[in-house]
Amino acid sequence: MREKLRQFMIGRYGTDGLNQFLSIASIVMLLISLITRVSLFTYVGMVLLILCYYRSLSRNISKRTEENYKFYTIKDRITGKANGLKDQWANRKLYHYYRCPQCRQKLRVPRGRGRIQISCPRCGTQFIKKS
Ligand SMILES: [Zn+2]
Repeated sequence: MREKLRQFMIGRYGTDGLNQFLSIASIVMLLISLITRVSLFTYVGMVLLILCYYRSLSRNISKRTEENYKFYTIKDRITGKANGLKDQWANRKLYHYYRCPQCRQKLRVPRGRGRIQISCPRCGTQFIKKS
């Protein structure tokens, strides 16, 4: 039986980070559907589960690898943003955070210095803000 399964999985994609995420998300959706009895969550959970199986049994390995890569790119962007917001919240008593009006670069200035002129390190735009 084990040998048969191994034979069956030869040349197939198997599992990866995106599939782990999909299976966990589908379990969460199905649990929510059990609690709330909203059938939408059941459908979403089933679709995620089918997608997860489809990907792990797929023979198009390069396509699946590419999907996994995209998943990690998005995940990194989200965790990066979340960490940035966490830092901003932790330092809120020490610093003011502004965005450059020209290039949208996020800038950090120390609080309690009155009105100050800020120059953007990226594009050189100068603007006046209260610190
Ligand atoms: Zn700028």
